[in-house]
Amino acid sequence: MNYFSSDFKLGILGGGQLGKMLLFDTRKFDIQTYVLDPSDEAPSRMACNQFFKGDLMDFDTVYQFGKLVDVLTFEIELVNLEALEKLEDEGLKIYPSPKTLRKIQNKGTQKDFYTEHGIPTATYKRFNDLKSLVVQILDSKLKMPFVWKCTEFGYDGNGVKIIREIADLDNLPNVECIAEEMVPFKNELAVIVCRNPSGEIKTYPVVEMEFHPEANQVEYVICPARIDEKVAEKARAIALNVSQNFNHVGLLAVEMFQTHDDQIIVNEVAPRPHNSGHYSIEASYTSQFENHVRAILDLPLGNTDSKVAGIMVNLVGEEGFSGNVVYKNIEKILGWYGVTPHIYGKKETRPFRKMGHVTIVNENMTEARKIAEDVKNTIRVISK
Ligand code: ADP
Repeated sequence: MNYFSSDFKLGILGGGQLGKMLLFDTRKFDIQTYVLDPSDEAPSRMACNQFFKGDLMDFDTVYQFGKLVDVLTFEIELVNLEALEKLEDEGLKIYPSPKTLRKIQNKGTQKDFYTEHGIPTATYKRFNDLKSLVVQILDSKLKMPFVWKCTEFGYDGNGVKIIREIADLDNLPNVECIAEEMVPFKNELAVIVCRNPSGEIKTYPVVEMEFHPEANQVEYVICPARIDEKVAEKARAIALNVSQNFNHVGLLAVEMFQTHDDQIIVNEVAPRPHNSGHYSIEASYTSQFENHVRAILDLPLGNTDSKVAGIMVNLVGEEGFSGNVVYKNIEKILGWYGVTPHIYGKKETRPFRKMGHVTIVNENMTEARKIAEDVKNTIRVISK
């Protein structure tokens, strides 16, 4: 099939910042795109060829949208799976496949998948609701502390809570959930794998998530991770294995824990471009977004190596500010060596809302880390 400067149409479910960044690459290749998103102000709107407003969880909306395109992909996992399954049955190419998405969408099924395939992961128990979990605590069949996770619709940590005492369960929703062993880790790592339908497969270098010591928020994504080469190799091998077992097509971000004795344990996966790969736009030979496009169109994959060290700082709305956004001191950081801000195009800021990110590239990792800290301490996402 001819994708370039042709009538071919790539459909993308979801029009957020991931979609917007993906569209830079479809533009580069002159591939036509249709985007479906519920918001009139979706960040992707300005960069796609045709924008459709609609509910991603609604069967008919997703099904009808799928009928308009030649290949379908998504930038968010919360989409109507039944519609995707029907479209795939009818012959539409959907990458990643709804079959893979079904295994991943529910954290309980995802954990079962790791267990069945011998992939290292923290031990866990599944529960249909919170009440049955409480019963097991009262019967001393479940010991605290553990990590509570709702199996569906959690996002950016809001479906996760450490339970140290029974009172920590107050106010949690009575939904399907898992109780997971607490992993005492020294590092959180991630590896992005890309694979095309022909089976060509590549991994990006291991990245490290550096946390704020008190706030417990990821502050920096650092590539390459400052870890032993042997540990990095192990992490890449495990990520490859996960992708192959899922028979995954497109990008798969594999999030992992590095324990104190250097074991690698898989936490969870995301079947799409990922926050931990944003650095690749500036630091890699081929960005994660370009490789997603290449993978789902069964084109040869690009080189995943880095050209320089890259660090990413998330720009999230500052606490105490809501309303029309202002990026204070952005002019200042633009003057610094190797600093590139990405502004997603959301008009309104809210506390902790992801509004953009900044990439810092440098030949020297120590220098990059210093500049990243200056960026973090200088730019502020506030309201007018
Ligand atoms: P989300 O899907 O919301 O990103 P995660 O499963 O990645 O949720 O968990 C969010 C964070 O909670 C992780 O990045 C990690 O810091 C912490 N966490 C998750 N699972 C465990 C665990 N089993 N042990 C210790 N910390 C955990």
